[in-house]
Amino acid sequence: MKIVLATSNRGKLREFRDMCKDEVVAFSEILGEFDIIEDGDTFAQNALIKARTIYQKLGKEYIVISDDSGISLPILNHAPGIYSARYAGADATDKENLQKLIDTLKSKNITTTPAYYTASIAIISKHGEYVVHGWMHGKVIDNTIGDGGFGYDPVFIPSGYDQTLGELEKDIKSKISHRGQALELAKPIIEMMQRS
Ligand code: IMP
Repeated sequence: MKIVLATSNRGKLREFRDMCKDEVVAFSEILGEFDIIEDGDTFAQNALIKARTIYQKLGKEYIVISDDSGISLPILNHAPGIYSARYAGADATDKENLQKLIDTLKSKNITTTPAYYTASIAIISKHGEYVVHGWMHGKVIDNTIGDGGFGYDPVFIPSGYDQTLGELEKDIKSKISHRGQALELAKPIIEMMQRS
C-alpha cells in the first residue's frame, strides 16, 4: 500500500522522507494542492482532520499519515502551540512566524526561556485510525543561529545540547525530535497495516 503524507509543508516532507525507508508521497502529488481547514482544538484533532480529508479522497488502497506539530512556550501560556503555522497571521510564512516569536520575546525582555515541540501523527488506512505523539524539550533564544531545519529551529536549543536546531546535523534532529519520536511509535502501526 502506498504511504501518502497529508502535508504540503516542505520541511516536514523532507524530514519524513529522510526518516522513512519507504517512499512517502505528498498528497499534492496525487490530488493537487488544496487547503485543509484545521479547526481542531488539539494537535491530535488537527492531525486526524488532515488525514481523514485525504483518506476520504484517496480510498482504501492507501495508508495516509499526517503530522500536526508546533512549538509551545510555557511563559506565553503555551503559545503559539496549535497556532504555530499561523502565529503571525492566516497566511504567514515560517519566517514571519519566527520573527513574531522573536519580537514577542524581545518585547518582554526575555533572552531565553523553556519551550517544547509537540508532534501528533495520525495514521489512517482500511485497518483503522491511530494517533501517536512525540515531544522535544529545550529552550528558545531571542535571536536566530544557523540556517538548517525549518520553522522555529534557528531559535530552539534542545535539552542536552548547546546549539540550535538550525546548527545541529539533521540526523541528530531526526533522532531526538518530536517528529522522530512520534514516527518511531507510528512505524509498527504502519508495518502492521502493510502486512495485513
Ligand atoms: P502544521 O503544518 O499545521 O502542523 O504547522 C506546524 C508548524 O509548527 C510549522 O509551520 C512550524 O512553524 C512549526 N513546526 C513544527 N515542527 C517543527 C520543527 O520540527 N521545526 C520547526 N518548526 C516546526
